[in-house]
Formats: sequence, structure tokens, C-alpha cells
Amino acid sequence: MTHRTAPLVLAAILLAAACTTSSTTRVDIAPSTSGLAIIPASSGWLGDPRIGLLRDASIMAALSDVSPARIRATDSALVSFGTRNTFSDTMSSTRGIGAARRWLYAQLQQTSRDCGGCLRVEYDAAVIQVARHPQRASANVVNVLAILPGRDTNRVVVMGGHYDSCVCSVPPNGGVDSTSVAPGADDDGSGTSAVVELARVISKRYPKGLAATVIFVLHSSEEQGLLGATHLAQRLKAEGKQVVAGMTDDIVGNVVAEDGAVDSTSVRIFAQDPDTSASRELGRYVWGLGVMYLPAFEVIPVFRLDRIGRGGDHTPYILAGWPGLRFTERLENYKRQHLPTDDLSHVNFGYVAQVARLNTATVVSLASAPGAPDTVIARRENAASGGQAWSLRWSRVPGAAHYEILTRRTTSPSWERVISAGTSLTRQLDFQLDDGWAAVRAVGADGHRSLARTAGAGTRAVDPTSMRP
Ligand SMILES: [Zn+2]
Repeated sequence: MTHRTAPLVLAAILLAAACTTSSTTRVDIAPSTSGLAIIPASSGWLGDPRIGLLRDASIMAALSDVSPARIRATDSALVSFGTRNTFSDTMSSTRGIGAARRWLYAQLQQTSRDCGGCLRVEYDAAVIQVARHPQRASANVVNVLAILPGRDTNRVVVMGGHYDSCVCSVPPNGGVDSTSVAPGADDDGSGTSAVVELARVISKRYPKGLAATVIFVLHSSEEQGLLGATHLAQRLKAEGKQVVAGMTDDIVGNVVAEDGAVDSTSVRIFAQDPDTSASRELGRYVWGLGVMYLPAFEVIPVFRLDRIGRGGDHTPYILAGWPGLRFTERLENYKRQHLPTDDLSHVNFGYVAQVARLNTATVVSLASAPGAPDTVIARRENAASGGQAWSLRWSRVPGAAHYEILTRRTTSPSWERVISAGTSLTRQLDFQLDDGWAAVRAVGADGHRSLARTAGAGTRAVDPTSMRP
């Protein structure tokens, strides 16, 4: 069975159950993509997660700009500061977290000079009491931001890594040991270096910005309880920003497991429950982009917030009500995390570059697209159909040239059909919504798709499952 079979079979099932709408345009596989999608066997799913996404030539070109050597150089510099613990030296120019953030700031300033001043580089600082500290000491938590303003400065895509490190796994001082060597080459020098490279690549290709604003952020104090990301998420909330996605590259460079197993060709993305959430939609979107732009690099969607018992900087954005996503290497080695052995020799920079390419496709796609509809409401047409027919209506999206409806079975991990809805803000469905999910997404004039909003999943939408007992 090829990967194409499942959607076609499903389409036949859905069409057999269809009520009306002969004008429906059905596209099972993106029409303008070339070649076969490679659906990795390990994903266990025979559908096509690209479902209607179109490849953008400028993104393809940007992917080729990502440099493993530059990422290695950045991570090497970070490691050279000895420790980047939140409580480490902030005055030295050669050691500690203060020197590290000033160096990062200078790198991003140079990147901005190289794009004609297109980035706004700033420190985002707050003094925060650290609940995990034995004496509840306060820390100067300083994120480093490079902002690429978009045509809409209110909608922002946040792409981050955390530049702090720790030897949290060594008693007795745990995460507050301010002096021991804590190279953090993988956790999270790898993600930080990838984000620095993304800022360079994306600002060079898009110096005039995209539709939405992009914030490249090097979060601080992740190891003390996601303090930097929490501060920035709350700040953006207070400023009335609409975060399209709050994402983190965290631990994206190890390819060898403790038992010697090697995997340099796949990456995990963590997308929280429930299955109709905005974060899950973000996960589906990145999964599809990965198949489309990096067919030899497998994106493994994991449908949960994070690894069991672990956390990351995407979570504060999710808690603020926005979609969030975590990128993490396929094979972790806990024997080198939060330890002096998290060194450069165990980071594969060709692998980090692949993750950075996936990030590039994600950030540019999201920032080029219109927003998702705020509201999608499903209504059962009792009078007309005896309960079999459903209609959707949704809110208008600024910048949308037209809209698409996506449908899937409740058991399907990705969308299975895409139906053009033109410029209308309402449409009758051609299948029984009791048996599936439907969503709406906006399509920009240049073909970039927004995240989908599932009917019944929006904060103001009616949940069709709760309309009647
Ligand atoms: Zn980390």
C-alpha cells in the first residue's frame, strides 16, 4: 500500500456519506508539490500530513543558507564561558552568564547591521525570586531578543532556545551551583545556536520582514523553572500581542544514545493535548512542513506537552493561551544532561542544522500566513436534514484571500481532506460531523496557509459534542 491510498479510501468513504455540495473541490494531496512524499515507516501513519500546504521557493532557498559551521562556532563560544548558570558571574567578560548574554547580544547586533538594521536587538530583563533556590534568592533574569518587525506588529511568532546552563544533576547545590563548569553544549547551547543562525538566515532573506513579526529569543533561567520564557510570555500578554506560536529548540544536538543507538535523521516535536488544541494544530503544521521541505529528515510528532516528567520554554506560551511547540532530538542521553559532560564533542552540528532548517520553514511559513480564524462554529441543520447535515461559519481573517475547510476522522492524527471554501464565511459540510472533526484555515494571496481552527475548539466556539445530550 502506498501513502496515497489511505486518503483516497477515506475520501471515498466520506463522499459516500456526503449529503450535498457538488461544487466541493477536493484536493487530497497538495497539487503543486513535486515528487512523492516520504512518509517514514516509524510514524505508522499512511496519510499525508502536508494536506494542501504548498512549497515556497524562497523558503527552499533559505534552507540552503543554514550553516552547520556557524552553529558550531556559536555553540563553541557559549561553552567557552565555562558556566551559564543563572547565578554565575555577571561581571566578568570571559566567564559566566553575563558574558554569554553580552556576546549573544553583540552577535545579533552584527546580524542586524548585516541586514541594514532590520532587527531590533534588546535585553528583556526582570528580577525574579527563584522558588527553587534554597534561600529563595532573586535572580536577574535577562532574555536576549532579536525582533524582525512584520507588517503586523501585533501578531508575533516566537522562536527560542535557552542560553542558561546548569549542573543540576550534581548534589548538593543542584541548579544553583554558580561556579562549576556547566558547558550546556547540547542543553541548550544547541538550540540557542540554532536560533542565532535562524535570525541570521531569515533576516538576510527577508530584511523587510514578513506578514507577522518574528521574535528570535534566547531565553534565560529555563533551568530555574522556565523563568525567562514565563516573563516574556506574560509581557507579550500584557502588551496585547497575539502569539501565533511560542516555540523552543531545547536539546537538539545529540544523536547517540547510551546504548550506542544512532539517529541523526529524525527529530521529535511535542504538541500538547487535547487533540483539537491550537498546539496540536501547530504540531500538525510543522509535521507537514517537514515532509514537504525536508523529506529525508523525519519529523516525529509526539502528541503530549513534553517528555514525561520534563518541561520546557514552550509551556509558558501555552499557559498564556497560545499554541506552543517543543523541538527535541530523537535520542536523548540523560547521562550527559545537566552535567559537566554535556560538552561540544557530543553535539552533531549537521544534525542541529537540520533542526534549524525545519525551524526556518516553520517560522517563515507561520509569519507569512494570515492568522487562523478566531472563531469556527459548527451548527447542525436539524430542520433541513433531520440532523444529518452540518454547516460551519467562521470569523473573517485580515489578509485572507480565501478559506479552506479541513476534515478528518476522530482517530486520524492529521487532516485527511481539504475543501476550498472560497471567500465565503460559511459552508455546509458534506459529511456527518458527529463522526469526525472539521476545521477552517485562512489562505494568504501568496498561498501560505494559517494554522487550522477546529470547530468547537475555539474559546468562543460551540462544541458540537456538547450541544445536546
Ligand atoms: Zn534545556
